[in-house]
Amino acid sequence: MRHYSIAFASWSSRPMRAFIFAILCFMSMAGLPRLAVSAEPQAWIDSNLEVLVELYRHLHRHPELSFQEEKTAQRMAEEWRDAGFEVTTDVGGHGLVGLLKNGEGPTLMLRTDLDGLPVTEKTGLVYASEATVRGEDGSLTGVMHACGHDIHMTCVTGAAKFLAGQHRDQWKGTLMLVGQPAEERGAGAQSMLADGLFTRFVRPDYAVALHCAPSVPAGGIAYRAGFALANVDSVDIRLFGRGGHGAYPHLSIDPILEAARLVMDLQSIVSREVDPTQSAVITVGSIHGGTKHNVIPDYCDLQLTVRSYTEQVRQLLKTAIERKARSAAEASGAPEPRVEFSEGTPALFNDTALMERVVPVLKNALGESVVFEAPASMGGEDFSQYGRAGVPICMLWLGTVEAERLAGYARLQQPPPPLHSALFYPDAEPTIASGVTSLSSIALDLLSPEETNP
Ligand SMILES: [Zn+2]
Ligand SMILES: [Zn+2]
Repeated sequence: MRHYSIAFASWSSRPMRAFIFAILCFMSMAGLPRLAVSAEPQAWIDSNLEVLVELYRHLHRHPELSFQEEKTAQRMAEEWRDAGFEVTTDVGGHGLVGLLKNGEGPTLMLRTDLDGLPVTEKTGLVYASEATVRGEDGSLTGVMHACGHDIHMTCVTGAAKFLAGQHRDQWKGTLMLVGQPAEERGAGAQSMLADGLFTRFVRPDYAVALHCAPSVPAGGIAYRAGFALANVDSVDIRLFGRGGHGAYPHLSIDPILEAARLVMDLQSIVSREVDPTQSAVITVGSIHGGTKHNVIPDYCDLQLTVRSYTEQVRQLLKTAIERKARSAAEASGAPEPRVEFSEGTPALFNDTALMERVVPVLKNALGESVVFEAPASMGGEDFSQYGRAGVPICMLWLGTVEAERLAGYARLQQPPPPLHSALFYPDAEPTIASGVTSLSSIALDLLSPEETNP
């Protein structure tokens, strides 16, 4: 996600490294985990993995930016129609919905995102993306699936094929596949909902999604019940002054000094105003003012990202930021500042009852030792919008890097390349195998023929 750069900044933090190290130690004691158990999906995956990896490589080679996912959506629609789903395209942009009704029973939504990022790939893989796009300033930049959305598409498609194929007698209900555009802009879920995702089609009883996690060993899954990802708000502040000559500051009002005061003061909100047991972040990511050494400018601009979990803390941060900006201006005798909040992504709350049901299924399907609880993070994901619309949701972190490769990074005391890095790449085979196994097993459980009351 563009300015929401997801989740895993904190995963490379010291506690997280220790956490990963502990996992790796545990795994090396236990022998490296391999996908196992869950005989049915596993047997199917063994004979279909090659085709799925081919699909993955195709998607990886042909990424498209947010709201431009035309060919990606076309390919997904073909795959899902092939599998037997009734597919509607152009839902909220290039979004698509695939439905397969298989008797009476609950509806399970499996969501994948479709978009890539303006990142020039540097992985050196034979199937690396060579796609480019021209930016607003006319410069050429690469396009890459640097957030693993190509893996998500492949896993949802794999599970769809498994469930729609010879295994229809093992479940009852409706499968709803959602291909969502523009996740990286935090906008696609909202645009699909606004286009009637839950009214024109069907309101699901559950929604499940995977997201790649480069710090989690491939073959495994990490989960977090309750709040897992944060409210993400963007704030634009313009502090006004009165421009003049740098040699005669007494004849001007200096907005750079106002900004300096404000940047420091903002940091006291989290440390002094938010309940210490609650989580919040305020980061000033950009500050621009002035043109030259000896000119005091008329204004200075700041851009902030603001993170929280609860609505109460979110409101507190908003009010405090406005107050701090006004007081920085007032202290300088400057005019009222302009403070604009952009509607962000709401916090992602994984339904606790659904998670309680899903975790044992995953442990059974993948193996007890490779399914573990993850810490919450201050990243953001607009999958949260489906939860906010009243559907119990469950987003899981899919391990993407083989344990041996993670151990190599650990030896170098380096975190693996994070999401959005030009060097990020999943180990496709084990990642896709565990992703398809996970989604299929969850579907077989939630849509089990005995299930009558979701
Ligand atoms: Zn992303
Ligand atoms: Zn993503």
